[in-house]
Amino acid sequence: MHTRFSLLHGLGWFVLANALLFKLVTAYFWRGLIEPAADASAGAYRLLNTLVHWPLLALILIGLPVGLAIAAWPRRPVPWLAAAAFGGFAACVMAADAVVFSQYRMHLGPYAWGLVAGGAGGETFLVFSKTLPWLLAAGALAIVAAEAALFAACLRFSAGAARRVARPVWMTWAALFAFANVWYAWADAHYRVGITQESGHFPFYRPMTAKRLFRYVGVTDFEAAKGPALPSSANRALIYPGQPLECPAPTRQNVLLIVVDAWRADHLDAVHTPQIARLVPESLRFMNHISGGNVTRFGIFSIFYGLPGSYWFPVLGHQTPPVMMSEVVRQRYDLKILGSSPLVHPEFDRTVFSGISGLRLKTPGDTPYERDRRVTADMVEFLSDPARAKQPFFGFLWLNSVHSYNFPPDYPLPFQPSWDEVNHMALGPDFDPTPYLNRYRNALHFVDSQVGLVIDALRRSGQMDNTLLIVTSDHGEEFNDTGKNYWGHNGNFSPYQLHVPLLVRASGWQAGAQVTYFTSHNDLAPTVVTDALGCSTPSLAYSSGWPLRRTEGRREYLAVVDYDDTGLYEPDRVTLFSPFGGFPVYSHRYDRVAHPPRMDRVRAVTEEMLRFTRKPGAKP
Ligand SMILES: [Zn+2]
Repeated sequence: MHTRFSLLHGLGWFVLANALLFKLVTAYFWRGLIEPAADASAGAYRLLNTLVHWPLLALILIGLPVGLAIAAWPRRPVPWLAAAAFGGFAACVMAADAVVFSQYRMHLGPYAWGLVAGGAGGETFLVFSKTLPWLLAAGALAIVAAEAALFAACLRFSAGAARRVARPVWMTWAALFAFANVWYAWADAHYRVGITQESGHFPFYRPMTAKRLFRYVGVTDFEAAKGPALPSSANRALIYPGQPLECPAPTRQNVLLIVVDAWRADHLDAVHTPQIARLVPESLRFMNHISGGNVTRFGIFSIFYGLPGSYWFPVLGHQTPPVMMSEVVRQRYDLKILGSSPLVHPEFDRTVFSGISGLRLKTPGDTPYERDRRVTADMVEFLSDPARAKQPFFGFLWLNSVHSYNFPPDYPLPFQPSWDEVNHMALGPDFDPTPYLNRYRNALHFVDSQVGLVIDALRRSGQMDNTLLIVTSDHGEEFNDTGKNYWGHNGNFSPYQLHVPLLVRASGWQAGAQVTYFTSHNDLAPTVVTDALGCSTPSLAYSSGWPLRRTEGRREYLAVVDYDDTGLYEPDRVTLFSPFGGFPVYSHRYDRVAHPPRMDRVRAVTEEMLRFTRKPGAKP
C-alpha cells in the first residue's frame, strides 16, 4: 500500500530517470552535430547545465502534474496513469524536439508550432508519408507503456536504501540550479558569448538574465562591454519606399516571372531540366545568384521587394505592397498571379500582393502536381489570349511540386532509384541521399515539363521578344551536402540552401552568356522596375539591390534570414548573428572557422535591415 509520501518519493526518482532519458534521446539524435564548447569555462557551464536543465524539464513536464495528481488522489490507478500519460507525453515532445533540431537546428517553439499549425507544415518540415503517422502512433504507445513500467520500478527502488539519499540529491540539484542561473546572468551581462551561446543546445531553455541588476550593483561596466546590437525591425514603423518612384520611360514590355520552388542552382542543365535548358542559349545566366532567404517566405519576399527578409514583419503589419507591384498596377498591366501554393500561408496576400484585387488565393487541386498542372494550364490559356498583344502583362507562375517531391503517379521517372516516399524519420548523418535526391530530380523533371508548356505558349503568342522573362527559385534544397545532417531547407545559410538558378531572357540582353559576379534576389525588383517599367529612381531608394546588369557599386555580400536566424552571406563564408551574442563564422560547408567576422560588413547589413524603418515615435 502506497502513501502520498512514498508515491512522491518514487516520483522524485521517476523525474530523475526521465531527465536521464531526455538527455540520452537528445544525445542520440544530435550525435556529431553539436560543436565543442568555445573554451574551458563554456565547457564547464555546459556540463553544469546538463546536470541542471534536464531534471528541470522533467520536473516541470512530469513532476508537477503527476505530483498534483498524487496530492489529489493517491489511490490506484490515478498516480500510475498520470505518470504514464505525462511521462509518455514529455518523452514524445523531447524526441520530436531532438529530431527537428537535428535537421533544422531549431527547437520546438512558437516558430516551429506556427509552421505546423499554420497550415504551412508542408512548407518547411515534413512531407508526410502514408506509413509515418502509424509508426509515430505505435512509437508513442510503446513509450507510454515503457513510462508506466519505469514508474513502477521507481516506486520499488525508492522503497529501499534510495529513500535516504533522495533529499541530498535534490538539495544538490537546487544549489547547482541556483549557481548555473547566476553564472549565466553574469556571463550575459558581461557579453561572455562562449557561455551565452550554449543556451542554444538546451531545449526550452529560459536562462535568467540580470543586466540591469548587475549594472545597478556596479559589477559590470555595461556600455564598455556592449557589442554591436542585433538588428530587429519587428517593432519599427516602415518608411518604404524611401522616395516615390519616377518612371518617365515606361517600355510596355511584358514581365513573366517563373519561380520553381526549392530548385538548386546545380540542377539547371539538359539532364535535370531539359525544357528550361532550351532557354539557356537565349538568356543571360547568373552563376552566383543567392536568395535572400532559405525558406519560401523570405525567398519570395526578397524577389518582390528586393529587401532583407527582416522587413517581412513591418511590411506585413502595414500591408505595404512592393513598389514593383504598385507600379505595374499603375501602368495598367494585365496581371496573372498564379501560385500553386496558397497565397495566404505565408501571407503573400497581405505583403507581396496586398495591392492587388481579385487574387486567386488557393488553386484547386488535391496534390501539388495537380495544382502545378492547373496553374500551368491557366498561364498557357492567359498567354494564348489574343488580348495579350494589346496590353502589357505581368505574369507570376509559382510551381510547387519540387518543394513537396511530388509528381503524377503515371509520370515516367527518369532518375532511379527513386525513394517511394519521403520519410524524415529515416534521415540521419549516415543516410545515403541518392534515392531521396532522385525523387527530388523526378519532381523537378515534371515541373520542368510544365515550364516548357508555358515557354512554348509564350513563343506562340508572338510576345517572346517583348517580354522580360525571369526564371528562378525561391531557395535551394540540401541533401546533407554539408555533412552536418541538414536536409531540405530552413536549416542553414550554406550555398546548398541559398544558391539558386537565374535566367533572364529579354531583347537587348546578352544571349547565351554567363554572369559570374555576385547577384541576389534583391536585384530582381530593381531590374523589373528599371528595365521594364522605365523608372529612373535609384534602386537603393526602394530596395537593397541593383539592376542585374549594373556592375558598379555592387556589394559582394548579402543579409539572409530564416525563421529565427539572421546571417551575412559572403562568397567565401557565412557569418551568423547569434541570438545569444557574437558573430560566429562558418565555411560554406558549415564548419566553424576561426576567422574574425568582417565587422564592417556586419554593420553594413545591420544598417540595411533597419534603413527603411524608424522607431515608433521617432521623427521621420
Ligand atoms: Zn519554397
